[in-house]
Amino acid sequence: MKKECAQFDFVKNEHNILKLWETGKVFEKMVAKNAGAKEHFRFLDGPITANASMAMHHVWGRSLKDAFIKYNTLRGRSCQYQNGFDAQGMWVEVEVEKMLGLNDKQAILKYGLDNFTEKCMERVRHFSDIQTRQSQRIGQIMDWDNSYFTNSDHNITSIWHFLKVCYQKGYLVQSYKSMPWCPRCGTSLSEHEMSGSYKELTHKAVFVQFRVDAGKLLGDLKTDARMLVWTTTPWTLTSNVAIAVHPNMDYAVCRIKSVNDLLIVGKDAIKVLKKDFVKIVREVKGKDLVGMKYEPALKLGIQNFEHKFIAWDEVSATDGSGAVHIAPGCGAEDFELGKKLGLKQIVPIDEAGRFTEEFEYLKGIKTDECEQLIFDKLKENNALYYVHDFTHNYPFCWRCKTNVVFKLVSGWDIKTADVKPALLKAVKTVKWEPDFLKKSMVNWLENMGDWNISRRRFYGLPLPIYPCDCGEINVIGSLEELKERAVKWVNLPHLHRPYIDEIKIKCKCGKEVARVSDVGDCWLDAGIAPFSTKKFFTDREFWKKNFPSELVLEMKEQVRLWFYSMLFMSVVLEDRAPYERVVGHSTVLGEDGKKKSKTDKNIKVTFDEQIEIFGADPVRYVFATANPVNDMRFGPTMVEEARRKLIAFWNSYVFFNTYAFIDKPDIASHKPQNLDVTDVWLVERLNQYIETCTCEYDDYKAHNVIVATEKFIDDLSNFYIRVNRRRFWKGENGEDKFNAYWVLYNAIKAVTVVMAPLTPFIGEYIWQNLVREVEPKASEFVMTTDFPKRIEYSGKTIKGIIEQVDFVKQIISLALRIRAAGQLKVKQPLRTMYIKTASKRDLSLFIDIIKDEVNVKEIEIVQDEDKFNVPFLVVDFKKAGAVLKGDVQKLKDELAGLTTEQMIAAANKGTFKGYPEEFFVKKLAKREEFAAETEGDITVVLDTTLDEQLVSEGFLRELIRSIQLARQEAGLDISARVKFKITVEKDLVELVSANIDKIAKEVLATEIEVLGGKEAKIEIRK
Ligand SMILES: [Zn+2]
Ligand SMILES: [Zn+2]
Repeated sequence: MKKECAQFDFVKNEHNILKLWETGKVFEKMVAKNAGAKEHFRFLDGPITANASMAMHHVWGRSLKDAFIKYNTLRGRSCQYQNGFDAQGMWVEVEVEKMLGLNDKQAILKYGLDNFTEKCMERVRHFSDIQTRQSQRIGQIMDWDNSYFTNSDHNITSIWHFLKVCYQKGYLVQSYKSMPWCPRCGTSLSEHEMSGSYKELTHKAVFVQFRVDAGKLLGDLKTDARMLVWTTTPWTLTSNVAIAVHPNMDYAVCRIKSVNDLLIVGKDAIKVLKKDFVKIVREVKGKDLVGMKYEPALKLGIQNFEHKFIAWDEVSATDGSGAVHIAPGCGAEDFELGKKLGLKQIVPIDEAGRFTEEFEYLKGIKTDECEQLIFDKLKENNALYYVHDFTHNYPFCWRCKTNVVFKLVSGWDIKTADVKPALLKAVKTVKWEPDFLKKSMVNWLENMGDWNISRRRFYGLPLPIYPCDCGEINVIGSLEELKERAVKWVNLPHLHRPYIDEIKIKCKCGKEVARVSDVGDCWLDAGIAPFSTKKFFTDREFWKKNFPSELVLEMKEQVRLWFYSMLFMSVVLEDRAPYERVVGHSTVLGEDGKKKSKTDKNIKVTFDEQIEIFGADPVRYVFATANPVNDMRFGPTMVEEARRKLIAFWNSYVFFNTYAFIDKPDIASHKPQNLDVTDVWLVERLNQYIETCTCEYDDYKAHNVIVATEKFIDDLSNFYIRVNRRRFWKGENGEDKFNAYWVLYNAIKAVTVVMAPLTPFIGEYIWQNLVREVEPKASEFVMTTDFPKRIEYSGKTIKGIIEQVDFVKQIISLALRIRAAGQLKVKQPLRTMYIKTASKRDLSLFIDIIKDEVNVKEIEIVQDEDKFNVPFLVVDFKKAGAVLKGDVQKLKDELAGLTTEQMIAAANKGTFKGYPEEFFVKKLAKREEFAAETEGDITVVLDTTLDEQLVSEGFLRELIRSIQLARQEAGLDISARVKFKITVEKDLVELVSANIDKIAKEVLATEIEVLGGKEAKIEIRK
């Protein structure tokens, strides 16, 4: 056993342990240990996006997953230790485009699709390597050589299988609908991709006046009329095909100042006319307006058809004018309405969000650049009423942050209506944590539309859809099928574009057909993991052993993303949930409680640098402490706190090591007999701790393991070690001392193993330097041992011992509180301590420990407070006054003149000087020399009276302490025996000399010379 330093160097030791794990092949040995185990931990890793270096927030999920896998390994369960990387999709493309300086899809095509795809794959390899290294640095142990990648051919063809099943069930359909569209990325975005991607933006909104043909309705007024319409997206006026009004709403025909024409506006929206308003000349109902013709405001050639008012129940007068302009080619709601009413669909923009040729002067201009042109044109046409700023929540592309537009697009959808009931049923079989995730999932499922799975992009899952003119869709379900049906098969480097596009298949009508050029939604990629990574297609037995997963754990935002896509795919394929328990952790905030932004310029220190400053274990400890249900704060303060907690445990180990290093106790073969009462307590407490942590780990509550550990370490260091320290100091090596070693060793060993899944480095360190030294047969690594079980011991058990000690600790802490409040040094012995408690609790086994800890000579357990109170009398003014009248004040003065002794005598008698007893009321006061503290039904009282003997004892104790401090400061070995020269005040020389043997024994002195002098001094003589 080597001697430990008081300080633990986290970073240095972590690097040594990483080397030890690598050279010793810890992972292989973890696997080997549980190979063929009866129990298996069914775990599935949610793939991390291999698109950047890890950030601190990643540690939460990753360290927890690592901890639960390691716990199960300790419990003797085998596991598929597979890590996953999310490796294809638009998010990689966007970053590679940035890197290559490509600004749009045309630029990518010019660069070459093959080159582009290779660059994307290169980026994924690059970052997955970095993330692997970073994960290893924080102590994560996985089968790093066999991580799964969602861009693998195997993963791709697994999704093909799923899509084919969808097609066979009639779920896979071609769609044509209005979708959120990113003009930069040139693709639509699906519903779940849009969640959370909204920000507050200020746009120009405009009130437009449309000339109407109101002859039938307002002809008698002999004035032309216009309809006021409001829009927040002026560019959509180019594609206006109708104006919608609410049939039952009131509309006001108003005279205004700015033009002669009458202006029609929703009656409840008149305020928008502001000072222009003169008066209402007539009121009409919306249904009176329906069918009325109007002129489009921009007068574009493409709008050269009849425009009419239509009825729509969704119109209101809250925002705008009470009339809505309808452009089915630009918005989802408009599209649905237009489909119902058979309205024209004008799609004004191309993939890049630019106006197409038919839009005359707007041709080639982007929707966010055309505002002024449109306003100018409206003005020219006398159609502009006014423009104003309007702030609203506007969606943006989650990948490139460009504001999206809405565009009619054709694509591929998975219809969800038929799957919904089974999905909702499957949700109920899962334990969701926190609880509200279940509600979020149900809510999401109940409101979800069809799943749009096609993206007009390049580097992603190639959709295996080969539609033929004959009407056959042709969906390919596997690589074999593709090879079989290929017109001419050539070997492809991998199944991505452009290579896959070279393969054409033969339709059953005989025609050669090409694949649709679309790639798939990236959530398909990760959603298939419960099948693709668990050998669903190649080894059904293996899959059955691993499905469904016992645990998936990712951030809670995954409800609509990964948790959803997995659930959906699993329900379609197997009609059941792919997981039994879902844990969604919350958000990591900065130390100030604010959300950290990825683009925060203030973050100058990289993740790698931070870990080398903080150490991985303290960081993991911070994350383990947080309850995943709540947002957590992370920063240097929390890390410092975690280091302190870990050092508290380290100190217990160092205490053990300090004495064991000298005594070299043979703990491995020690058979404990006659355990001390505190030993029995610690073993029982340890067994309780092990049981608690087993339950908490089984329930995936790492934060409760931390709570239990912190309490146990507090009991270990602040009670067990404190009250037993003298047993370790003892010179002779007897049974009692070995018992103490045995108990303390077992406690430290158990905490080391219990905590190893959470703080693996310090765990491994203590395992190597303590456990393997004490027990030569111990396993090679902490991770290849077994989770601790109950520790058995021979001898008497003590019923209720844990509760008894809790009570003892409470009494000691109350007494020490009194000492602290009264500035009574603990080294100063006191005569008596009183304990008053209502409930009968047995303290007999612990009286000496309490005496020792509180430093009192006697303990008296009392039922009432008489012992530490003094009685006194006060005048009952009502009764005494009635008799004595004016003389009552005299009686009060007389009472005040009594000495303390006289007062006590009087109070015990109930009266004095022969006055009637009813003149007085007896009360109790705390005796001056007594100090008390109460908590619940326990009152602890210390008699603080000091006599000469107590003062002398106190002095001697202080002296011993000073000598021990001097030993420490001089760096003396704890077992070194030396000579001292002590100078004390002259009148204390006699006292010290009389006790010299006792002092010498305590401070390991071979000789002590005592001198009298002015200044107290301790010298160590060579
Ligand atoms: Zn985009
Ligand atoms: Zn065909």
